[in-house]
Amino acid sequence: IRQKIVAGNWKMNGSKESIVSLIGGLLEMGGSDSEVVIAPSFPYLSQVSEMISDSALVLAAQNVSNHEQGAYTGEVSVSMLNDFGVKYVLLGHSERRSLYGETDEQVATKVKAVLDFGLTPMLCIGETLEERESNKTFEVCQRQLQAVIDCVGVDSFEQMVIAYEPVWAIGTGLSASAEQAQDVHQSIRSFLSTLSESVARKVQILYGGSVKASTSSALFEMPDVDGALVGGASLDAKEFIAIVKTAG
Ligand code: 13P
Repeated sequence: IRQKIVAGNWKMNGSKESIVSLIGGLLEMGGSDSEVVIAPSFPYLSQVSEMISDSALVLAAQNVSNHEQGAYTGEVSVSMLNDFGVKYVLLGHSERRSLYGETDEQVATKVKAVLDFGLTPMLCIGETLEERESNKTFEVCQRQLQAVIDCVGVDSFEQMVIAYEPVWAIGTGLSASAEQAQDVHQSIRSFLSTLSESVARKVQILYGGSVKASTSSALFEMPDVDGALVGGASLDAKEFIAIVKTAG
């Protein structure tokens, strides 16, 4: 049985002050069977890391360089993230792909850098509205996965998490239905099972895109939905906790 993960991607939001109250709120949540993950912006990793050190909350970063160190102005390395107790690194988020031109191959080299250091990539994949409407949803997800498989091998997916985030559902208030999510998650898992039964059985596949407490319980009931990657709703402690509670 796969443990559920509920991860909050704060994107480029927050301040020293707002984080004190947001994390303060989350610390009152109490125990959960799911793993609860927070992904703040780089400058706040240290603050959040200290605040959650005595709790079960887990730290994630939103991006990383594929290089180990050196003359890469403005970049952040995996070892730096490791210094601050980061466990997960979001990679290939659609905002990185579409606004910053990250290619499938670049995402794959970042996955490799994170795995080489023993941290856990949270690989984001998903189709645009246009791709869905032309029935290319699975083709796109498979292409995005294949680039990573070509770089690190399928067995590495036992040390990874996949987040299916349809681009049309991100920040739009229009979540995929539980059935739509299940359909894609199941296709992803059956594609992986053709390469490795064990990976397909173990890999956690999260859904992301306008997840709210009012929609999350239906999503979490689906057999292949192993949690959620939450954007906007993770900036509100009460709403985020409510989502976590629906995961059990
Ligand atoms: P929203 O929950 O705001 O739609 O964002 C989803 C997302 O992109 C999480 O990474």
